[in-house]
Amino acid sequence: MSVTANSVWNNCLEFIQDNIQPQAFKTWFEPIKPIKLSEGALSIQVPSKFFYEWLEEHYVKLLKVALTKELGNTAKLVYIIKMENTYGNKEPFTEQIPSTNRGQVSPQEMDVPIKSKNPELKNPFVIPGIRNIKIESQLNPNYNFDNFLEGDSNRLARSAGMAVANKPGGTSFNPLLIFGGVGLGKTHLAHAIGVEIKDKYPERTVLYISAEKFTQQYIESVKKNTRNDFIHFYQLIDVLIIDDVQFLSGKSGTQDVFFHIFNHLHQNGKQVILTSDKAPVDMQDIEQRLLSRFKWGLSAELQSPDFETRISILRNKLYRDGVEMSEDIIDYVAKHIKSNIRELEGAIISLIAQSSFNKKEVTLELAQEVVEKFVKNTKREVSIDYIQKVVSDYFEMDVATLQSKTRKRHIVQARQLAMFFAKKFTKASLASIGSQIGKRDHATVLHACKTVDNLAETDKQFRKYIDDLTKKFS
Ligand code: ADP
Ligand code: MG
Repeated sequence: MSVTANSVWNNCLEFIQDNIQPQAFKTWFEPIKPIKLSEGALSIQVPSKFFYEWLEEHYVKLLKVALTKELGNTAKLVYIIKMENTYGNKEPFTEQIPSTNRGQVSPQEMDVPIKSKNPELKNPFVIPGIRNIKIESQLNPNYNFDNFLEGDSNRLARSAGMAVANKPGGTSFNPLLIFGGVGLGKTHLAHAIGVEIKDKYPERTVLYISAEKFTQQYIESVKKNTRNDFIHFYQLIDVLIIDDVQFLSGKSGTQDVFFHIFNHLHQNGKQVILTSDKAPVDMQDIEQRLLSRFKWGLSAELQSPDFETRISILRNKLYRDGVEMSEDIIDYVAKHIKSNIRELEGAIISLIAQSSFNKKEVTLELAQEVVEKFVKNTKREVSIDYIQKVVSDYFEMDVATLQSKTRKRHIVQARQLAMFFAKKFTKASLASIGSQIGKRDHATVLHACKTVDNLAETDKQFRKYIDDLTKKFS
């Protein structure tokens, strides 16, 4: 049997396979192609410079032993780096790293000069000067599970996150997609999972990156012709966290590269965690094949926190900052900022700052002022329909009854209250309010508003109705 590049390399592989983890073998040796054998030198093609460096770094001894067994003490190894030409459709070209070493045969001693058009690596996070490749996780330790408070609104996402942190890659939550509106804790939870994994499994490579930065890096790699390095870098990661994947919308190049990275990681039992401001079904301009991958695992929603959760988030924040604040102020803030935890925190931070700069006590007035600034932009207009619904619910009747022609006193009162609140909380004209609440005219609405004002002054029970309902609208 004649000795060929193939046969030599296959024998080497057999030996190597017996000596390393199957995973490592798959990642680092299967992609290698034997190219030629001449004068005791085996040329192998590797997918990227990064790949080559990794082999040199981690498997040089093993390669040497394997090759020496096959070709004797004078064996040589030549790496050929396959480069993908990412501009246009030209053929991929290869670049040889020649061996300059004529003596002994260790691949390590080959002293391979890395001269190329794009000497820049590779690992976008590498610390210059440190040969040993270390990937900084980019995690923020301040975002952890301890200070991610649990509530009905986040229970599923939080416990799925915990499960993933306990067994990264080992649950069916892969990928774990956390979705929800702005300021509801997606970034916090994503970091918390990473931080917890780092804590439990310090040897695992965890990387947090925003989809935006990922995209920038990708574009850069295309420009520098290091797309392969980019891909290989990401394929090394054990736990990949990509924040705000909706950013990939319409960016088909980045989606494509992410698709390949995702598949590689998933196949190799690595964990992927994604966040998005939308559920997968609502994502636009994301390729179908990628969307279907997102659905492989679990999509867990972060919803707007309920009142109790908002209170505990505020208390926790104050406690951590060592600030005391009266219950009714905490209550006030929690009541008025409902849909965004970032704003909730912003308001309380602003209150703390105001009180300490001005050395004055936080009063309810100050709280009102601050809260108003925070909710002004986000306050949604209450609709007349909504008002009728709330008032009917409050008096335990349906909307049709409220609108009916009946003169029964409690129904008339409910209707008048609905008109009163419609005047107060919407910009609608009297005529328009009248036509929407049981087809009355503007005079009826005006009369209703006056009646409510009067009763508010004279009737205690009626005053209470107004107060209760007002709270529901603000
Ligand atoms: P998103 O990424 O969804 O826009 P963030 O993760 O940035 O939201 O969260 C906004 C702010 O709210 C952060 O300061 C975060 O710490 C805080 N936050 C969100 N959810 C919680 C929670 N369950 N407990 C405590 N703080 C939270
Ligand atoms: Mg975020």
